[in-house]
Amino acid sequence: MKYFADLHIHSCLSPCGGEDMTPNNIVNMALLKGLDIIAVTDHNTARNLPAVDALAREAGLCLVPGLEVTTAEDVHMLTYFPDVERALAFSDEIYGLLPDIPLNARFFGEQTIMNEEDEPVGSIDRLLISALSESIEQLTARARRHGGVCVPAHIDKESHGIIALLGFINPHLGFRTVEVSPRGVAAGFSQYDPRLKVLSNSDAHDLGLILERVQPLELAEKSAACFLKYLDS
Ligand SMILES: [Zn+2]
Ligand SMILES: [Zn+2]
Repeated sequence: MKYFADLHIHSCLSPCGGEDMTPNNIVNMALLKGLDIIAVTDHNTARNLPAVDALAREAGLCLVPGLEVTTAEDVHMLTYFPDVERALAFSDEIYGLLPDIPLNARFFGEQTIMNEEDEPVGSIDRLLISALSESIEQLTARARRHGGVCVPAHIDKESHGIIALLGFINPHLGFRTVEVSPRGVAAGFSQYDPRLKVLSNSDAHDLGLILERVQPLELAEKSAACFLKYLDS
């Protein structure tokens, strides 16, 4: 079956995410846009996924639990999991790999954890957009131990893209899928390595930027497990 997806969306828990990127607003906007599958991928944390997952389930929308991790090389890596529990276990582990830099909310914005009613129920003290103290290889292996799959994010971008930082994508790392920004797709970047599958997502930090029905994925069923299999095949 063909399903329409946006697999890189930030909530208000990302310091750079808009304040209106609440669990209810994200799910409702995804429904308005006619999407079947979304992933919320906050920087280095999964703590807003329980609320989004509960709301998505109620609405018949599939949430792929995810994070956008920053490796020690300063590369952004989308990391997807089969369920919220495993995403949270990974998230708790990597919190200890973040440098102990307190959030300056006036400069970076708030890092707000919300419940299903869009009520703030907590916040995260450490600045979430810092780089973790583990390499791409180590983080990929750590995600795998939790049943997750890593996808290099926006590989065409100068900022935090794997090619700009490392020069190329080493086949030894074993990636089968990469993400190219919509602008990169327009510039022909999807052909970087024809053996790699390509996702192209919004990387939305504001509600209006969530994708419309422009990215069809051919999956056997609408589930996170099925999407992970697709990434890895
Ligand atoms: Zn990024
Ligand atoms: Zn992002």
